[in-house]
Amino acid sequence: MKHVPHTFSVIDAHVHVHPGSAGLLAEIMEANGLGKVVNLGILEALDIPFEEGMRAFQKALGERMVIFTTPNFRDNAPGFGQRMAEDLERKIGAGALGLKIFKELGLRHRDADGDLIAVDDPRLDPLWAKAGELGVPVLIHTADPVAFFQPLDEDNERREELQEHPKWHFGGPGFPDHDTLLGQRNRVIERHPSTTFIGAHLGNYPENLAYVDGCLDRYSNFHVDTSARIGEIGRHPAREARAFFLKHQDRVIFGTDLTINWNDAEEDEQDMAAYRRFYDHHRHFFETDERQIEYPGFPIQGRWTVDAIGLPDEVLEKLYVRNAQRLIPGL
Ligand SMILES: [Zn+2]
Repeated sequence: MKHVPHTFSVIDAHVHVHPGSAGLLAEIMEANGLGKVVNLGILEALDIPFEEGMRAFQKALGERMVIFTTPNFRDNAPGFGQRMAEDLERKIGAGALGLKIFKELGLRHRDADGDLIAVDDPRLDPLWAKAGELGVPVLIHTADPVAFFQPLDEDNERREELQEHPKWHFGGPGFPDHDTLLGQRNRVIERHPSTTFIGAHLGNYPENLAYVDGCLDRYSNFHVDTSARIGEIGRHPAREARAFFLKHQDRVIFGTDLTINWNDAEEDEQDMAAYRRFYDHHRHFFETDERQIEYPGFPIQGRWTVDAIGLPDEVLEKLYVRNAQRLIPGL
């Protein structure tokens, strides 16, 4: 591997780390050249009081971690969008730098009548507008891999993973399909041109780079992160994936989906060598021209290998640092 001697430290703009693991995270950051991380929605997801969680993170990591807050969808009584907007303003005042939306929006969250809340439900407009008004980005996870919406049979290419995580399967009745969900998300982006949106997981269509390319062309307020999708991005011919990253070099931010002690404790702390391998696999993918290598997290997302895309140094710097700094004021 060429091992680019970075003159900068990398920002991982997509992690979920429990405050109790902040010390371990500091070690991981040290060992892997990470200058900052963006921790998404963990405090609300774990019901940790916001100020208390912020203090715990600050104590262990100081300025090296920033927090995105996430709305409380258990409050689904009329007026919820307005209250979510007010809560966002309060959390931003308390030090959060952005808003995280989990995939449950569109798939599971229901209103007081028991109806699914669509991603583009107008009752949420006050929330998206507030983010724009405050100048903070919305990191939005909508839908999931295409295979998660397909029948869970022998032909499903993510079968092993779905058997481990049955709740990730949305191929049964009662769920909107993959493309419907992305259509809902796109309408939100279109309706709120002065709000910055970052689509998690390469906008959740890494299987179809032309689709993501079209979204980025259409919506100048849309950006994407790379989290947890090297396994998909790297299945395209390297020339095509590389062309995508070159064309959209100002619109893609680096994130990994590093998860430590999430509530269901499926991802427990691992040894330092495993974290090292995880970040090395990312660097190999973006920085070398190696062929048929393992993606980060191999083999859970499928038993295939990927081709690296060898980005030039100035594009790497945008991917790893500059784009996140520009899109997340205060980072
Ligand atoms: Zn995530």
